[in-house]
Amino acid sequence: MDPLLADAAARAARYLDALPARPVAPATAAVAALTGFDEPLPAGPGAAADTLRRLDELGSPATSAMAGPRFFGFVIGGALPVSLAANWLAGAWDQNAALFKPTPSAAKIEAVALRWLTELLGLPADCAGAFVTGATVANFCALAAARHALLKRAGWAVEADGLFGAPPLTVIVGAEIHPSVTKSLGLLGLGRNRVIKVPVDGQGRMIAAALPEIKGPTVVCTQVGNVNTGACDPVAEICRRAQPAGAWVHVDGAFGLWAAAAPSRQPLVAGMEAADSWATDAHKWLNVPYDAGLAFVRDGDALRAAMAITAEYLPTQSEFRNPADTTPELSRRARGIEIWAALRTLGRAGVADLIERNCAQARRFAARLRAGGAEILNDVVLNQVLVVFGDADTTRRTIEAIQDEGTCWAGITVWQGRTAMRISVSNWATTDADVDRSTEAMLRCWGAAAGRPGASG
Ligand SMILES: *Cc1c(COP(=O)(O)O)cnc(C)c1O
Repeated sequence: MDPLLADAAARAARYLDALPARPVAPATAAVAALTGFDEPLPAGPGAAADTLRRLDELGSPATSAMAGPRFFGFVIGGALPVSLAANWLAGAWDQNAALFKPTPSAAKIEAVALRWLTELLGLPADCAGAFVTGATVANFCALAAARHALLKRAGWAVEADGLFGAPPLTVIVGAEIHPSVTKSLGLLGLGRNRVIKVPVDGQGRMIAAALPEIKGPTVVCTQVGNVNTGACDPVAEICRRAQPAGAWVHVDGAFGLWAAAAPSRQPLVAGMEAADSWATDAHKWLNVPYDAGLAFVRDGDALRAAMAITAEYLPTQSEFRNPADTTPELSRRARGIEIWAALRTLGRAGVADLIERNCAQARRFAARLRAGGAEILNDVVLNQVLVVFGDADTTRRTIEAIQDEGTCWAGITVWQGRTAMRISVSNWATTDADVDRSTEAMLRCWGAAAGRPGASG
């Protein structure tokens, strides 16, 4: 083996082995030492081994332990060993996964992963799929397909003629819409602000009865898995109300869509398969490396019409699936391979266990923090927990103390006017013992931040 690649593998293994024991946030000194990268552009070639050593010695210590078991910020997830290993091998292949013909392995594996995903998530077996960088771009792709289909029905070819002079398209969203959907609407020329907002309940769920009357070309953007509460919009009911009038219903399920793969959580998203398009991430809850998002679209021709590079795309002319016909990118890495590797290794039961386990750990967090006197703001239905430590100021100081202390990491949010800590449990490696250790650290930091005597022990 090339000694350089062996060295990289050894360094990566050492890094991962050390993760559970190191502070989750990088040390201040390690961040300060990043100035070591401020070298002049080398005038000529150097030793590759020296470059790799520099990367590891300066770069590794200044990472957050996001791949480790006690990072509970955002909804991050780690990388299953098999998905990282598959990523390395696929990296060595260096396939440009745009087209089927030159990259049959990548295209075939992606097609199989797509079939498995629709089965696992309970989506229509024949819907089209796009392997993109993340849920932001997945939302963008799905909404581009919606824009195509709705305007085509209104007699307008949006890809050819643009939006100037096009029939207006109404966009309805929940008040708790994720900013990535808003951004996608802006990129598509539909406008970030040109939306009708439907009110939500105390958990952030869209109130279906408050949907306005649907008139003319309309897209309704729903969400399963609110980033604060984990709550899911009543997608089935929204479909029942909106689709008979011709609306396109889109589901942003960046992490929440995975509830469909866990028997006890599936009722949260029951009926969401009636929608027209779905966006999710594999780099969050499926625990594959970045960057891996997925768009699914029932009307595959609409997605291909929006994304295929040839304007004259004719589905009947193609005897195989060209990955680039469904994505904004032409050249890209074969990111479906890690998804395939994770699914093949976990199987249906393994994915269910991962989702169920993380959800149980979220409930464990809530129970233990509540027992310690903290307030839990949300119904812990999925993997998200919103925690308040006394007043807003104490909560803020407690979160800062937790982040500095290093046992674990969780972020700050404001939920319906209240400052809170947000815990997201989505890493395959997290154990119940990690939850207990983290809870103890959180309560200890609260004690210190509140100035309670003896609290630091
Ligand atoms: C994370 C998230 C997104 C954005 O996903 P990226 O992978 O960061 O692009 C969109 N919607 C929801 C609900 C999310 O949780």
